[in-house]
Amino acid sequence: STPVTYAAGLAATAQKGIIVKGGAKLEALGNVKTVVFDKTGTLTEGKFHLTHLDAVGGMKDRREVLSLLSTMEAPSSHPLAATLVNAAKAEGIEQSANAQVADHTILHGEGVQAMVNGEQVYVGNVRLFERLGMYDALNVVDRRRAESWNEEGGTVGFLGLDGVGIVGMFCVSDVVRSEAASVVGSLMKDEVKVLMLTGDGEGAAISVAKRVGLDRSQVCCNCLPEDKVHFLKIEMGTKAEKTTSTSFGSNGNVLFVGDGVNDGPAIVTADVGVAMGEGAALAMEISDVTLMDSKLENITFCMSLGKKVVATVK
Ligand code: ADP
Ligand code: MG
Repeated sequence: STPVTYAAGLAATAQKGIIVKGGAKLEALGNVKTVVFDKTGTLTEGKFHLTHLDAVGGMKDRREVLSLLSTMEAPSSHPLAATLVNAAKAEGIEQSANAQVADHTILHGEGVQAMVNGEQVYVGNVRLFERLGMYDALNVVDRRRAESWNEEGGTVGFLGLDGVGIVGMFCVSDVVRSEAASVVGSLMKDEVKVLMLTGDGEGAAISVAKRVGLDRSQVCCNCLPEDKVHFLKIEMGTKAEKTTSTSFGSNGNVLFVGDGVNDGPAIVTADVGVAMGEGAALAMEISDVTLMDSKLENITFCMSLGKKVVATVK
């Protein structure tokens, strides 16, 4: 193939809105043998729509639940937060102007908490409500319903009040990026190992995995941000062992691609850390590669360009 120098390679990537931090990173891209994808906002668009919403336990009605969810999520940056705020607006529910919100805190991989009018409120996933000891108190019928939403492939969330318990539950669904399946397919055809990590639950994880052509063994769900880091380190460690036990040259780099908002630690850990989606520009500082237009096929593009650079440099 035609020789590609560092400068030519960097120019070619820049033209597609791919920011690669220097020639050495292009070479590293050329040696990638494992690609690890985040799910939400990476393999999916991170554009959720509300599929179910119910009041639970008779404390609040459906409108009150949606209103409080909207109040809780207005300051959050997670992709599903905007969905709840917009769903409330669509039903003519404005956040009550006199709601006093204080101590709004993001609980990474779990949800959010805040004081609303002096009451401690939580919004988040099963993990959060198990930790708070509220999930076990949820009645069997509602729990079954949550499980069935999860099996449909949705992301299930709950609204809870301290000292009261769960008062509402909802389900949101995300759209898989149109090019995700073909990018995953072409990586696997090239014998690249492909994996998916997600903080989301098993139902939503497996549903997305299936749609992009991954099986259960390629998926790790319910990951906290630090679990993603740990998982990557193990993947990178396996690679180091292989180097000593085989006679083939390089055993390749591990590439991680995630959204810039909450995947920072994993992006920093991987041999090649790629940021895309919502927070891409924010994560530029810490990532090796930034995809400004979030096209997944740009990953395979810069990997094959990297191969040409490696061939030229050698
Ligand atoms: P991922 O992007 O891989 O889904 P995150 O760490 O961003 O992982 O989130 C993990 C899970 O935590 C989400 O799937 C969701 O269930 C829950 N979660 C995170 N942020 C919020 C939020 N603002 N409101 C409700 N649930 C949330
Ligand atoms: Mg994410």
